[in-house]
Amino acid sequence: MFCKIIKGDIPSKKIFEDDEFIIFNDINPAASTHVLLVPKMHLESLNELDNPVLAGKMLLMIPKVAKMLGIQDSYRTIINTGTSAGQSVLHVHIHILGGKYIGTPK
Ligand code: AMP
Repeated sequence: MFCKIIKGDIPSKKIFEDDEFIIFNDINPAASTHVLLVPKMHLESLNELDNPVLAGKMLLMIPKVAKMLGIQDSYRTIINTGTSAGQSVLHVHIHILGGKYIGTPK
């Protein structure tokens, strides 16, 4: 499904995009700011992420995104792996949440 967002077949509220990543608003936000950082390469979960360069880029992108969104002083990052842990989309992604929490944080 995130591949369809990447291709533009499903609309999204895009925050950022380059050759390797797309960042867009979560459709069901758990905080006033809730975005998903998604690598364009289709990897089902963190268990398939074996490229240290890609992994490093993803990690280093988080504080930049937080700054871009104005939540750099306080934010939460989550990676759900496996359906029992709450992963509902089988394309690896990092949740970045901040601002005012709406209900229980993911
Ligand atoms: P997870 O449950 O960790 O796999 O996270 C998947 C997230 O994707 C959930 O927080 C959903 O709200 C979000 N989501 C599902 N479909 C869309 C969509 N079309 N656009 C934006 N976010 C989505």
